[in-house]
Amino acid sequence: MLSVNEALKLIKQHVTVLADEAVGLSDAIGRVLATDCHSTLDSPPYDKSMVDGYAIRSADLTESGGQFQILEEVIAGAVPTQSISQDTTTAIMTGAPIPKGADAVIMVEYSTRHPESPDVVVLNHDPVNAGTNILYQGTTLKVGDKVLQAGHAISPATVGLLAELGVSAPNVFRLANVAILSTGDELVPIDQQPGPGQIRNSNGPLLQSLVRNAGAVDRVLGVGRDNLDQLESLIQEGLNCEILVLSGGVSAGVKDLVPQALSNLGVKEIFHKVNLKPGKPLWFGIAESDDRKRLVFGLPGNPVSSMVCFLLFVVPAIRALHGGSFAPLSSMRATLTETFKQRGDRPTYYPGVMESSDDGIIVKPLRWKGSADQLTLTMANCLVCFPAGVGEFSASEDVSVFPLPW
Ligand code: AMP
Ligand code: MG
Repeated sequence: MLSVNEALKLIKQHVTVLADEAVGLSDAIGRVLATDCHSTLDSPPYDKSMVDGYAIRSADLTESGGQFQILEEVIAGAVPTQSISQDTTTAIMTGAPIPKGADAVIMVEYSTRHPESPDVVVLNHDPVNAGTNILYQGTTLKVGDKVLQAGHAISPATVGLLAELGVSAPNVFRLANVAILSTGDELVPIDQQPGPGQIRNSNGPLLQSLVRNAGAVDRVLGVGRDNLDQLESLIQEGLNCEILVLSGGVSAGVKDLVPQALSNLGVKEIFHKVNLKPGKPLWFGIAESDDRKRLVFGLPGNPVSSMVCFLLFVVPAIRALHGGSFAPLSSMRATLTETFKQRGDRPTYYPGVMESSDDGIIVKPLRWKGSADQLTLTMANCLVCFPAGVGEFSASEDVSVFPLPW
């Protein structure tokens, strides 16, 4: 059976980034730049004061400070009209342009106005070097500099920079449409009371929220019953999206018809079954036509299995379609707070609570009651991965943990 990493490698081979589009800057957070971005300006655009104070020639300040004639006051948004000469100064606000002739600004905190002549200021400050409290034109950005590279994920800081550059509609990679199809004769809509043998379709909303959490666009197809005709017509609809995610119907039961329905429609199986727990029945395939490739994930029906498989396998694919790297769910090492026994021969992803402590990151596995136990999952903030083949892990042993991305 394929390992998780082997399965990821196979998925990665079939992922190609989507086309690009321009989006309004306020909608660009989390998106990935599709083109390099060059500066169209110097920043700051002129030599500017970093403090409220007095612009002077640094040479005019002696050990005992100095007395200066105030020529004018320049507030932010205004420009100086006079040049600084010996023992003259301009009162200047933070961000305002430095007047000609000045090479330093002394903070207003060191100043006192002359009691008899209000246009004279006494600066009680040690001598300063040229450049004190001045941010020179082009210090942070120069016209023509490449400031952001294609592939850069837009953060709030990037939004600020793009706004400074006047980029109101950055060019980013398109978001993936992800169709969600829950399958099963036992499923009823969530606003209905389940009858005997029935359960609510919790995977529909679960997967929808996972898709949104991954930054993609959800297209909910509802419930497909366990018969080939209905499954095929809904799958056909789902293949209009870049990704189709099905839940249920991929295990070994007589009514597990999803692989058959997909194959009838020409969706090519890349793998079926991965060595992990929960999530072993995972199915992955592709639907190819002249100009496009669709990724199809058949997730196991149990909600926790569906979620674990989505996080491990679908999220990296979505990220890569969006222009990011095809990176597995990020993990770190943490120390177990208690002993843990595991049954079974597969690597197990187990809900846990991790936190930082004086001794580093520690993690406590939760008492989880199997792949249908959604309650325990709501208390978890990570998945703890226990490798196969070890029956007992002792407290203070290090394990891999995957912080849940919410
Ligand atoms: P299956 O993979 O179709 O055999 O389903 C495995 C288990 O997951 C069964 O107990 C199903 O009832 C349950 N299950 C399947 N689909 C869903 C769903 N959409 N919501 C909640 N549970 C489901
Ligand atoms: Mg089923």
